[in-house]
Amino acid sequence: MNRYDLVVVGAGPAGATLATVVALEGYRVLLLDRQASPRYKIGESLLPATVRQLADVLGIRERIRTAGFVVKRGATFSWGIRPDDLWTMNFGRVAPGQRELPPNAPTSFNVPRHEFDQMFLENAVERGVEVRERCTVTAVREQAGTVGGVRYEDERGVAHEVDARIVALATGQGALSAQMGGTREYSTFFRKIGIFGYFEGAGRLQAPLDGNTFFETSDRAWLWHIPLSDRLTSIGAVVDAADAARVQRGARQALAHCIDQCPMVAGMLSQATPCTTPPFDEVRTRSEYSYCQTRFWAPGIVRVGDAACFVDVLLSSGVHLATYGALLAARSVNAVLGGRLSEELAMNEFETRLRLEYALFYRGLLGLYDTGRDSQSYVEFLRRLLQNTNGVFIEWREQPRAIEPTIEATSDLLARSRSNVESLRAYNTRQVRYGGGAGFDVDEPPPAIAHTFVASTDGRHWAAASPAGVAATVSR
Ligand SMILES: Cc1cc2nc3c(=O)[nH]c(=O)nc-3n(C[C@H](O)[C@H](O)[C@H](O)COP(=O)(O)OP(=O)(O)OC[C@H]3O[C@@H](n4cnc5c(N)ncnc54)[C@H](O)[C@@H]3O)c2cc1C
Repeated sequence: MNRYDLVVVGAGPAGATLATVVALEGYRVLLLDRQASPRYKIGESLLPATVRQLADVLGIRERIRTAGFVVKRGATFSWGIRPDDLWTMNFGRVAPGQRELPPNAPTSFNVPRHEFDQMFLENAVERGVEVRERCTVTAVREQAGTVGGVRYEDERGVAHEVDARIVALATGQGALSAQMGGTREYSTFFRKIGIFGYFEGAGRLQAPLDGNTFFETSDRAWLWHIPLSDRLTSIGAVVDAADAARVQRGARQALAHCIDQCPMVAGMLSQATPCTTPPFDEVRTRSEYSYCQTRFWAPGIVRVGDAACFVDVLLSSGVHLATYGALLAARSVNAVLGGRLSEELAMNEFETRLRLEYALFYRGLLGLYDTGRDSQSYVEFLRRLLQNTNGVFIEWREQPRAIEPTIEATSDLLARSRSNVESLRAYNTRQVRYGGGAGFDVDEPPPAIAHTFVASTDGRHWAAASPAGVAATVSR
């Protein structure tokens, strides 16, 4: 039988999350990926919400906690006007000015992505998702203004067609083009190239910061240092697109050059050797990875993860935006498949919330790229930012609700959902087109919007209409 409720294209964290949360509702879900697992990926430093609340919804928190991943309490920076004055942005919610973490402060992990993604995929299978690997989706089937399925080729080159009530594109940066669902607009400000490799025997920050992601700037680049195990460390440089010629002459030499410019990371690598074990034996590059799709959904189709949007790597927000966005999309897909909401109402809610999250990280990154500040002002700026996002606690401001059997879709709700999504589409468009300098307040805060729905206690649904007076306000 080739008919599914949901077909998801791409089995990274976004695709696996969406597929799992919809399968948990008893729907028939097919997840396709062109590669075989486990597969190498970049994106190793995670935010707490992914490995805590999101993992709870998926039922894999304990598996992640006991996997032996390096515990990360936050990020430590040599950044700004006094590079010797290292400062740390930790994940605890503490008063401005207080630097120590409370004992129960949330933590996260640094993960070799092939291991982490494999857990998500195995869990998807256990929760009822049908997974087919080495299957490349070649086209989205569109008819009469709606998407109704996909075409794909299996590893022998045999063509297949499947029908789906909804198709999700979770294809990552190398997006499958679909006529429906808008276009990709690249960031004017974040035109960067990432160059990254792996070392054995690198030094660490002092405990308790030894699992933290460490960032160091130099004149024309910045470096990351991410401990992945006792032996292994991920080292990456982010340079301007203007330096592409140097990178093209040789990625390994370009990375070595950037390391030479950053004395702290160079010191931590003084006794280290390049890793020679696959998949960590190569120095790789990625470019043009900051962008936003003009629309995240169209009738019968939705985009999640990097297939929808991504911005810069400095705040480690990629896997968070991918999994949080997939959770939002799953709530909306469940509402549509269950006949509880119209597609427009449900999908606007997903798109609005993901756009707001993207907007906040974009704004935070524009601030952090201002390297003319001192440590105290960065910490205060980032703490305010993180408290407005769902990166540490997903929707922690909302009261959880039991699911109402039906949500009455009034014309007021529809008007609100349209106004929400339109204002955030316009806001994100202004952000990606902004080409001025970096700074804490170079753009206005995102519009204060009243969400249309609130989430259920189990996180898998939109439970009820949100009161019109409750706005998702964003402090400066
Ligand atoms: C240099 C760099 C550093 C980064 N560092 C971090 C970090 O420290 N922390 C962080 O959170 N994020 C980081 N990111 C971002 C992170 O890598 C991504 O945001 C994340 O992997 C997105 O997940 P995804 O599920 O959307 O896509 P992916 O994980 O890319 O998965 C997409 C999947 O789709 C499959 N696919 C594609 N096309 C097809 C097709 N036609 N048919 C079938 N299957 C298909 C692919 O094989 C792939 O498995 C970084 C990104 C870059 C560029």
